[in-house]
Amino acid sequence: MNHRILQLNARLSNQIAAGEVVERPASVVKELLENSLDANSKRISINIEAGGTKLIRITDDGNGVHPDDLTLALSRHATSKIIDVGDLEAVKTLGFRGEALASMASVARLTLTSNVTAEAENGWCITVSGSDMKATVSPAPHPRGTTVEVKDLFFNTPARRKFLRTTKTEMQKIEDVIRKVSLSHTDVMITLQHNGKSVRQYIAAKSEADTLQRVASVFGKSFLENSIYLEEDQGSSENGMRLKGWIGLPTYSRSQADQQYFYVNGRVIRDKLVTHAVKQGYQDVLYHGRHPVFALFFELEPRTVDVNVHPTKNEVRFRESRQVHDFLFRAIHRALAEVRPESTDVVQPGSEATPVQSNMSFRTGSGGWSRGMNTGIREQSALYGKLLQTPEGSDITSDPALPMVDGDVPPLGYAVAQLHGIYILAQNSRGMVIVDMHAAHERITYERMKRASDGEGVKMQPLLVPLSISVSEQECAAAEYHQSELLKLGLDLQQASDESIMVRAIPAMLNSTGAEPLIRDVLADLIEYGSTARVTQHRDEILSTMACHGSVRANRRLTIPEMNALLRDMEETERSGQCNHGRPTWAEQSIAELDSLFLRGR
Ligand code: ADP
Ligand code: MG
Repeated sequence: MNHRILQLNARLSNQIAAGEVVERPASVVKELLENSLDANSKRISINIEAGGTKLIRITDDGNGVHPDDLTLALSRHATSKIIDVGDLEAVKTLGFRGEALASMASVARLTLTSNVTAEAENGWCITVSGSDMKATVSPAPHPRGTTVEVKDLFFNTPARRKFLRTTKTEMQKIEDVIRKVSLSHTDVMITLQHNGKSVRQYIAAKSEADTLQRVASVFGKSFLENSIYLEEDQGSSENGMRLKGWIGLPTYSRSQADQQYFYVNGRVIRDKLVTHAVKQGYQDVLYHGRHPVFALFFELEPRTVDVNVHPTKNEVRFRESRQVHDFLFRAIHRALAEVRPESTDVVQPGSEATPVQSNMSFRTGSGGWSRGMNTGIREQSALYGKLLQTPEGSDITSDPALPMVDGDVPPLGYAVAQLHGIYILAQNSRGMVIVDMHAAHERITYERMKRASDGEGVKMQPLLVPLSISVSEQECAAAEYHQSELLKLGLDLQQASDESIMVRAIPAMLNSTGAEPLIRDVLADLIEYGSTARVTQHRDEILSTMACHGSVRANRRLTIPEMNALLRDMEETERSGQCNHGRPTWAEQSIAELDSLFLRGR
């Protein structure tokens, strides 16, 4: 290795760049799709052979490349998307690095054919060859738009070729790339063929229903019934932050974080800060270790987000990371808090709008929820045991305590009976409702305790003997920097030396042995995300345990008015669709579903 310095040839330097950008066929598809979208294409067709190792061909109907620019299109550091550093700091296109085509052309046999006019005979085609990647341009008929053909991927880089997996795996990765794009560009038609057979067809969405159809084709139909659509707008703020999309109900969670799509200005990204904010939004309603499902589209002023972090452009950096974190967290948290039994128009038995899926299909707390305040609910006394006025009469038995179910019926209806000391059986305008009485009461008690605790503020408890904790220099600095905020959380921390802090007071709810790990976690959060919810989380865990013990146990007899009061409280309580552990608290079966059980009306 003791020879003199030499300039690398064009192909080799492009191959080095390709190391980061072109990992496998799916990365080629991603870069080519991004180019087609940046060219405003409305129809994109993708042809793959042998999992992309033999051929990847993408044809679009976009703006095309001017014949004089063809050579530049395949050279590194050449792009039509940015001109100066000002543009780089406010990128609005998916591409901007000007290296994808050059990288691909260095590790495969690449041909680009394009036409900027409407007459097919004006098309031109370009290929490159040799170590200097010399270009050859020749006329080639092509309708307006561009076709890029990438053949024999990694034919000249055997080490890379060895890392390729089975055709099936590579196809899955390609489909994954297309799926992500299909969600953010619903107005573009995308088709995929593998070995001459049609695999996927995303029709351009023309209406809201078409868009929903696309969401359903990515997540499955049940996702729409089990999710909330949210829209949060701070567009007028300096950052211009806007968030919209679908978040799965807590009861629709998964064991893997495999159905999470997050877009920043139309670009799908993976980001620790975002994951953390979303997780925190779900805190309190999700079973430990479960992962929410979501497709969220986040828009903000391009100047406040740096997309030039990694060659694959899958990562971003937010200038105002703390504001972004808070905004995302609040939007999701609020949307989930509004999940509670919903009043719908009175549906006449037998005229169910939704078809019955199976004889035993129950609509549970996880289904049919919608975001938004309940308007038809009356103020209710929160105290159980206090008698509740219910309408007189009954339509099913002669029991005078049973109410009529016609007219203004609350979402969860009126209690009819208690089953096995565990469930409340109720009837509403749609049919029958079953409530897990302990789980529901636990959530109500918990939410009430949290509200009470919020109202009081955090009580501080001074330590008789201040606790000394050794920390890193960075943690020490964070403790000092966030001092006033920490005080609001009930933590009085003082810097003792460069690498230790004195704890003078802790939240009254905490005992001093639990303080040290909590403080470490709090400081780690503050360093990483600029904010922390640890103290509230910790308080909530304590309250949740208290709520569990303070709630109606199984086998306690409740009177009909007590049961009705519980139902009314559920309708008013935030997050009452799930118990504190994320299980549903109620289920519903419609009259139509009951009828079908008995083959009635068929
Ligand atoms: P980048 O997308 O970062 O600019 P690329 O190497 O992917 O870099 O593409 C280089 C240039 O070639 C682009 O800036 C664009 O002008 C042009 N180009 C590539 N693909 C297409 C396409 N499908 N339609 C129109 N122009 C394209
Ligand atoms: Mg590109």
